[in-house]
Amino acid sequence: MYYNSTRNSSLRVSSAEAITNGISADGGLFVPESIPSLSLDEIKKIGDMKYADRAAYVFAKYLTDFTDAEIHYCTDNAYSTNFETENIAELAHLFDGTYMLELWHGPTCAFKDMALQILPYFLTTSAKKINLDKKIVILVATSGDTGKAALEGFKDVEGTQILVFYPVDGVSPMQKRQMRTQEGSNVGVCALKGNFDDCQNGVKAIFTNDEVKKELADNGLMFSSANSINWGRLVPQVVYYVSAYAELVRDGEIELGDKINIVVPTGNFGNILAAYYAKHMGIPVNKLICASNINNVLTDFINTGVYDRNRRFYATCSPSMDILISSNLERLLYLLADRNDAVIKGWFSQLAKDGKYEVSADVKEKLRSEFCAGYCDDEQTKATISEIYAKYGYTCDTHTAVAVKVYEDYKKSTGDTTKTVIASTASPYKFSAAVLEGIEGGKSDLDEYDKIDKLAELSKMSIPSALADLRNKPERFTDVIDKADMREYVLGRLGI
Ligand SMILES: *Cc1c(COP(=O)(O)O)cnc(C)c1O
Repeated sequence: MYYNSTRNSSLRVSSAEAITNGISADGGLFVPESIPSLSLDEIKKIGDMKYADRAAYVFAKYLTDFTDAEIHYCTDNAYSTNFETENIAELAHLFDGTYMLELWHGPTCAFKDMALQILPYFLTTSAKKINLDKKIVILVATSGDTGKAALEGFKDVEGTQILVFYPVDGVSPMQKRQMRTQEGSNVGVCALKGNFDDCQNGVKAIFTNDEVKKELADNGLMFSSANSINWGRLVPQVVYYVSAYAELVRDGEIELGDKINIVVPTGNFGNILAAYYAKHMGIPVNKLICASNINNVLTDFINTGVYDRNRRFYATCSPSMDILISSNLERLLYLLADRNDAVIKGWFSQLAKDGKYEVSADVKEKLRSEFCAGYCDDEQTKATISEIYAKYGYTCDTHTAVAVKVYEDYKKSTGDTTKTVIASTASPYKFSAAVLEGIEGGKSDLDEYDKIDKLAELSKMSIPSALADLRNKPERFTDVIDKADMREYVLGRLGI
């Protein structure tokens, strides 16, 4: 299996090269040159495996330059006792025919762990395979969860250094505490005066700047990415959709071959793109439902075919979805436009120039046949948390609540009764203030940790130890910088 760039179809690199480089030099994203298939028999077989083996089975189809031993080295280390549940991705029954795919039982309590616990193994294995003699510098832009998950994944990993940028007022208090208290000798964290898009644009600009790259190379360093622009982030996310389907079959909830809907609370479009790949590998899927908060650029795009980022940016109670430029949409559009790199380059240069583009009628049609989209605001998010808490005794986080609400609206408007998997992307404890507001119906004056205790009382869920421990940890990283100073800051941290 080789990988092309969305902006250069004739480029062909191995998965080890795609993962090490993170992004293609032409600014495009790496995509596998074909989507490998899974037969129903294989899906059935996967249901009887443990999670690490399910992952290895899927990876063998994408990372064909990795040996079996290399793949198992990665999966056995990544999906083990570092998760608080043996199943790794837990499938909870919410109500009849609706299942919550809980992806937050990892060390940082968000679904990003599913990929970022394995990415360091992928990356160091890839670097070895291509005889890379440079130290890898991971630059991360985060809307809250990726940063912490990447820091935790890469801390003290030999041959790597990691630097994370987050929007200074764009993350939850708990997310900020998690990052500022990060341990490890090769880690750095810095707040940016700006929003997530500023962080992401800044990182991308540094990443693709030839001068900076040369300075790094002269110092025995190279950049890579832990954001979902890296294929090594995407492919682990395909696994849990395959895993969920196989498990529903194994448990007799559905028959092998029955279709399911998948609902994903979406920001950068990575998670839902992974669901799209799972579908096109052979997982029977009816609709992929894209749920947004009030930053609803994707809802409009899926409904109209016009992507327009020229709109107000809102800070919401589901901050990991506060994004106006969804990077991974480029990968989807590349596939829908029949891998035509010229078309993609056209749209994305319009996006860079005018903040806007419109896809062709043909692509619009394909989009609408596979996806549905909806959004809700903070008030509806909190009302949904309250409603499912009251009805089912289930406590969910704000991002997941957005997905539940959008799914309820979808069901009302379509009458579709297909069984449905909702991606549950974070532990409610990560957003305890908003979750408590939802359940109790008003703001609370408690401090962040007392809120956690209160939530434990109400939800009857145990507090993840990683969050409970934060109370006594010292803050190591308190820098706040201007957008314009990012490049200098990065070079300074690298001692250049
Ligand atoms: C990152 C994140 C999302 C959005 O996922 P994308 O892959 O960026 O679309 C949703 N919910 C939570 C909790 C997240 O951390």
